[in-house]
Amino acid sequence: MPRIPADEILIAGHWRRGRGLPIHTVDPADGAVLTTVHAASVEDVEEAARAAAGAAAAPEWRDLLPHQRARVLHRIGDAIEEHAEDLSALQTADTGKTLGETRALALSAAGTFRYTAAALETAEDALTPSRGPYLTMSVHEPIGVVGAINPWNSPIASDAQKLAPALAGGNAVLLKPAEWTPLVSLALGRIVHQVLAGAGLPTALLAVLPGKGSIVGDAIVRHPLVGRIGFTGGTGTGRGIAHAAADKLIPASLELGGKSPTIVREDADVEQALAGVMYGIFSSSGQSCVAGSRLFVHSGLYDAFVGELVERVRKLRVGPGTSPDTQVAPLVHHRHRDAVAAYVDLAREEGGRVLCGGAAPQGKRYAKGAYYLPTVIDGLPNSARTCQEEIFGPVLVALRYDDEDELVAQANDSDFGLACGIWTRDARAARRLGRRIEAGTVWINTYKQFSISTPFAGMKDSGLGTEKGRDLIRAYQRQKSLYWGTDSAPLPWAN
Ligand code: NAD
Repeated sequence: MPRIPADEILIAGHWRRGRGLPIHTVDPADGAVLTTVHAASVEDVEEAARAAAGAAAAPEWRDLLPHQRARVLHRIGDAIEEHAEDLSALQTADTGKTLGETRALALSAAGTFRYTAAALETAEDALTPSRGPYLTMSVHEPIGVVGAINPWNSPIASDAQKLAPALAGGNAVLLKPAEWTPLVSLALGRIVHQVLAGAGLPTALLAVLPGKGSIVGDAIVRHPLVGRIGFTGGTGTGRGIAHAAADKLIPASLELGGKSPTIVREDADVEQALAGVMYGIFSSSGQSCVAGSRLFVHSGLYDAFVGELVERVRKLRVGPGTSPDTQVAPLVHHRHRDAVAAYVDLAREEGGRVLCGGAAPQGKRYAKGAYYLPTVIDGLPNSARTCQEEIFGPVLVALRYDDEDELVAQANDSDFGLACGIWTRDARAARRLGRRIEAGTVWINTYKQFSISTPFAGMKDSGLGTEKGRDLIRAYQRQKSLYWGTDSAPLPWAN
């Protein structure tokens, strides 16, 4: 059992109980209550936002040079790595994920801080070409207070992807973790708080504000002092945030849902494709925005490929995230497991055939946990709700295709456009298909690989704006132009 942090949250630079409704966090492997977090209220958001604005404007933070701010980010990255095992155990308890995955997520968060520090030290403002008797410069400045609102599926990675560039940009951050998984964000808050305090910087630069339902997130988005929103979550929530941001005329980046196609061409390396398709949908128990949840297989290969896939999926090891041999861990929450089960019922009603899974596993080991068996369904048209809506669980729908135009039409017939997988030995076909599919990320002969140095964005209902990549800090800054007169001659209207 990992060390569970105290029930306090980080408001205005101090750890104390929030004044909102309590959140009972649950271990989805056995239903045990881990702790009760005294979550934030709207008044707490108000207090945190005011303190954050003061911290962002404080000279000891505002006047730091980029390489000095980069040192702070390096210290945070080092401290995350030092505590990676604790952070991993905590995240496994809170989200149910396997320890292997949560360890990798913690280390990736450390890497995000280091990469952002390097990007900060090497980011350049521009001397732009002059078109008159003046020098022109384009510079970047902090926004002030930014809101970072995250879902429950990979909390520490999503937190780092917003927190690192926002701090690098010279801002203060109000971080809102998801109701089901506040613990790892609070633990990250402890690390950042210690680093800030140790460096003599204002500790109100980061607030961690868990909350029930939409209350706290909504209060952050609408707060007049909040000048930018970084959001990852569901498309419906993102659309609402976009409206609120439009009212305030502030930027918002939205990383939203997906229903990503993964394509197996007739010329694919079948062994590689089988492993990749399984990993793409069933790792993280399918609770991944980029999960390859719609499988398109060429008709010539379909029966053999799907038959073998189902045999292998039946053998996937389902168990608690703490068990070293587990491949498919419980879902994040019992309520979410029930929502996934309801989608499989819907698939049956729509005429789908459940080839494997389609139920919770039986036995004492699983009795109290939020488990669901990895499930493969076929016999549905791409227009079925099961093929169109994001299930966000270990459920794969298999579809066949005959030619490339029909494949592209089906793959693109989706409100979403987040990711795509292509399994083929034909490099030209891979390039052609990769360009024709509407998706922010295309993986060719691999899947669900991430690099902080590669920009990440969704098309269509999968998002707006970009995270990661060399320019990640610029998204958390304002651009300003300076004109600097170089001529001693007065302007024409001078007397
Ligand atoms: P969600 O939209 O329900 O919640 C996300 C966050 O928004 C939570 O912290 C929640 O409390 C907060 N929130 C809820 N209502 C709000 C409001 N009105 N104003 C402001 N904040 C509000 O999503 P979820 O169920 O936690 O996460 C699953 C979703 O996240 C899936 O759709 C998944 O695809 C998506 N996701 C996307 C990416 C990506 O990078 N594109 C990554 C991970 C998850």
